[in-house]
Amino acid sequence: MPEAFGQPRQTWGSQIAFFWGKMSVKHKAQALVIQCIDFRFQELIARDIQNRQLTGKFDRIAYPGASKDLERVSQAAETSLKLHDPDEALIYEHEDCGAYGQDNSIETHRENAVRLKAFLVNIKPEIRVITLIATFEKIEEL
Ligand SMILES: [Zn+2]
Repeated sequence: MPEAFGQPRQTWGSQIAFFWGKMSVKHKAQALVIQCIDFRFQELIARDIQNRQLTGKFDRIAYPGASKDLERVSQAAETSLKLHDPDEALIYEHEDCGAYGQDNSIETHRENAVRLKAFLVNIKPEIRVITLIATFEKIEEL
């Protein structure tokens, strides 16, 4: 049945155009999640995100040290804010972070998270930023 094969080919181009047309429509994320790459904390963070009913509704930036490298992470965060306009941001620091080396104190994690929060608020003043730290047992406000 050559017609059956021929038909999809004829509409293929317009389907693609329609698909991309839909993709380019402005899409909004509920949240932006910023976290470390460390695999040991992924389950805990995923559960916290699920508890907040944000699964599938957030942009994610995973970078070694979470908020430690402000220059790199802020660049990616700015892209998320511009493209997807999230209303809240969750910054997940974690204990025993290899990216922090010797200075793994909660104060240093807090300083960096607050610095990143200030950056986000500067771009979008109405954004709600929650700074958190994952321990091996649970996630706490930072
Ligand atoms: Zn880490």
